[in-house]
Amino acid sequence: MSEILPPCPKCSSEYTYEMNALMVCPECGNEWVSAGATADDASFSGERVVKDAVGNVLSDGDTVTVVKTLKVKGSPSGIKAGTKVRNIRLVDGVDGHDIDCRIDGFGPMQLKSSVVKKA
Ligand SMILES: [Zn+2]
Repeated sequence: MSEILPPCPKCSSEYTYEMNALMVCPECGNEWVSAGATADDASFSGERVVKDAVGNVLSDGDTVTVVKTLKVKGSPSGIKAGTKVRNIRLVDGVDGHDIDCRIDGFGPMQLKSSVVKKA
């Protein structure tokens, strides 16, 4: 550990240390996110960026196209590749489902951003 850690933003103590992605100050008990940890860690960044299958940034209200056929419970055909989905809403869904939308013939759905492409 030769890395120089930033002082505590609360009491400016120099005896801070890193614990997982958090910085900890032993003097005042302050815990904060160190600057270097935010880039790739969505859970620590205030603004979440959702990207589609090819890396376009998605936003609320976008129209996307499904890039691969998705199985849907109770539907023999599923959602076909090429299906257009209008007016998506970005959500913090379960199991990586970060798009909330409505698909014609299926109703409300949650999709993963990795299976769509911005139209
Ligand atoms: Zn402190």
